[in-house]
Amino acid sequence: MEPVKRNILLNPGPSTTTDTVKYAQVVPDICPREKEFASLMKGLREDLVRVVHGDLEEYTSVLFCGSGTINIDICINSLLPEGKKVLVINNGAYSSRAVEICQYYGLPHIDLKFPVDQRPDLSVVEETLKNNPDIGLVHTTHNETGTGILNPIREIGALVHKYGATFTVDTTSTYAMRPINIKEDNVDFLMASAQKGLMAMTGLSFVVGNRAILEKSKDYPKRSYYCNLFLQYDCFEKTGEMHFTPPVQTIYATLQALKEYWAEGEEAKWARHTRVFNAINKGLDELGFQQVIKPEERAGLVSSAIYPDDPNFSFEKVHDYCYERGFTIYPGKISTTNTFRLCALGAIDEPDIEAFFKVFKEALETTGVAVPVKYNK
Ligand SMILES: *Cc1c(COP(=O)(O)O)cnc(C)c1O
Repeated sequence: MEPVKRNILLNPGPSTTTDTVKYAQVVPDICPREKEFASLMKGLREDLVRVVHGDLEEYTSVLFCGSGTINIDICINSLLPEGKKVLVINNGAYSSRAVEICQYYGLPHIDLKFPVDQRPDLSVVEETLKNNPDIGLVHTTHNETGTGILNPIREIGALVHKYGATFTVDTTSTYAMRPINIKEDNVDFLMASAQKGLMAMTGLSFVVGNRAILEKSKDYPKRSYYCNLFLQYDCFEKTGEMHFTPPVQTIYATLQALKEYWAEGEEAKWARHTRVFNAINKGLDELGFQQVIKPEERAGLVSSAIYPDDPNFSFEKVHDYCYERGFTIYPGKISTTNTFRLCALGAIDEPDIEAFFKVFKEALETTGVAVPVKYNK
């Protein structure tokens, strides 16, 4: 097996993968309608539930061909009963995406906004649920990848259930990284993509959720032909297959990635991401960078650094310098503040971050930025 050039991706996914996962895609051609392939998908679906400690009787998973956003679209358009409303608890770019999905489908919804650098106020969430008994579906994001803030899903989920609604959580940037227990965390449906926490390839996304609610959603309005959760679930249950063509090679890569996930172990993997995250914060602190999210509210996977007040600072120049040397950094996603992000996803460890900061510091110095960086206030 020829080693593939290793790039350190510090963007919020796709993430750095192992060569064994890359090469797992090189397989004999197969028609995905063969029984052999269906049996691979059955094992995969079960493993995806196990990652979040779901009981296989109570929870199931449904696979889709698409990037992570397809899951948000599917959950929102498929899990809203007739005559009910969606509540989006929104403190960032990814929950705003869910609001846009409501708008595009013309679904009645409440966009409950909170500042991007603050956790949602639970008393406001409860007031909203109490005052709007027609809320049928509540959606939020676990780790708002735009900033890196961790939302209190267990507490929100308890409120959602108290008022009898279904709770969907976008866990795309925590799944298979930060440990989740779907039941104890009061989540009905969560979602992710193969290219993030699982460290596999792009093109496969999945929803893990409550079977009983899924069965009930059979009678909810069908608002999309391709992106309907019940229809895809039903097809899997009856035939073991996706309704339409699955991302065949990505599925092979994901199976290998899951083998590596179990071999590394949930706790050890989370400890590694934490090591990487701490090294990123240490590096940023040493260079004087300020961050958007308070340390105690960070999800432990995304650092959002504020541009320094230095006329020579150019994200693009710094990015290009690092990129040419095998390190990818990423712009922020906050409209009011200029930020860039460094993320702790992927098959990387502390020495990669140390190597990165050598290059990053050089990038600042060669572009004329004073180090440590300065802010006017
Ligand atoms: C990455 C991500 C997504 C999916 O984005 P795509 O570009 O569609 O893959 C969705 N939600 C969150 C929180 C994410 O981090």
